[in-house]
Amino acid sequence: MPLIDSFVVDHTVMPAPAVRLAKIMKTPHGDEIEIWDLRFIKPNTGMMPEKGLHTFEHLFAGFMRDHLNEPGKTEVIDISPMGCKTGFYMSLVGTPSGESVRKALLASMQDIVALPENFKIPAANPLQCGSYKLHSLAEAQDLASMVLEQGVVITDSADIMLSPDKLKALE
Ligand code: ZN
Repeated sequence: MPLIDSFVVDHTVMPAPAVRLAKIMKTPHGDEIEIWDLRFIKPNTGMMPEKGLHTFEHLFAGFMRDHLNEPGKTEVIDISPMGCKTGFYMSLVGTPSGESVRKALLASMQDIVALPENFKIPAANPLQCGSYKLHSLAEAQDLASMVLEQGVVITDSADIMLSPDKLKALE
């Protein structure tokens, strides 16, 4: 099995909330595709609650596109929660700066916090969602408030790489 990119960074020193460019790929036509690690909870110190995480996913996908997409320059492909429930992966076409990703994330948090209590969660119905009852706007808003309170840093992947020795020891 090949070593997956996210397995070569040290999760014990990974800060959160944080944005990190995890990987750059090039298509056969030369377009650049980036994968970003949007980390909300410091690994192994907690998890996003299930319902809040799911509602957050429904809201966040739209708001991040609102703030980050730029015609002809940047387009978000997908934003999906990590199985460990500590963050999201975002793939996109383009090469936005860390600061613009950080700002888009913060602006999305402000959008989520500002939603009224009776806001209808987009696509939370059996036609458009796989677990449409698994939602909590209040939990999603708590999560967004936590991010705004703590602030978001930009992590450089090079600073948290696992050394070849440590990787060898894990084999
Ligand atoms: Zn859903």
